[in-house]
Amino acid sequence: MAVSKFRPIEELEEAYAYGHRVFAESRPAEFEAKVLALPKDIEWHFIGHLQTNKLRHVLPYAYMIQSVDSIHLLAAIEKWCSASGKSVRVLLEVHVSEEDSKQGFSPDEILTMDLNAMATEYPHVTICGLMGMASHTDDAGRIEADFALMKSLLGKIMDSYPAFADSFNELSIGMSEDWQLAVKHGATMVRIGSAIFNR
Ligand SMILES: *Cc1c(COP(=O)(O)O)cnc(C)c1O
Repeated sequence: MAVSKFRPIEELEEAYAYGHRVFAESRPAEFEAKVLALPKDIEWHFIGHLQTNKLRHVLPYAYMIQSVDSIHLLAAIEKWCSASGKSVRVLLEVHVSEEDSKQGFSPDEILTMDLNAMATEYPHVTICGLMGMASHTDDAGRIEADFALMKSLLGKIMDSYPAFADSFNELSIGMSEDWQLAVKHGATMVRIGSAIFNR
């Protein structure tokens, strides 16, 4: 997907003219403004930290929220969708990198989640897989280890919940600098910003 955050509308229109139909944004107000300015046949993903008081800028338009980083947020999304008669796809953001600053669930938290209970508790939310970022480093070995860990988490969950195999199978890993390594480790989505828009 084309990560178009901070880019002016004209650059998104240019990417659209080349055939891009999947875009990702990370700030609620910017997301909403761009959705409303661009053609309707775009699949919009939200990939930034989402505060529960900003849901109305995002949920009416989002194909997928990739950055669900707390149960608090998941519950708020369920509440909003239930009240609005909508449903939405989400990914759980997992934190495997060295940086403390990154948002998301720890691997242990991911592994102790009960998908059956969550499907009952959050019926308007389809949990489709995991999203994550590798450590910010030039060390390819470290990046590959981070991606391998995320792939193994996804695999463990899929093995534990075969009934969810058709819905829980996405692995959103890889950005401009490391997407080749991400694909090697099973990425089903890569999030490319600067490599598309920086010229
Ligand atoms: C900005 C961003 C990207 C894209 O990063 P690039 O290095 O510009 O490709 C991917 N994922 C998330 C969550 C981002 O915030």
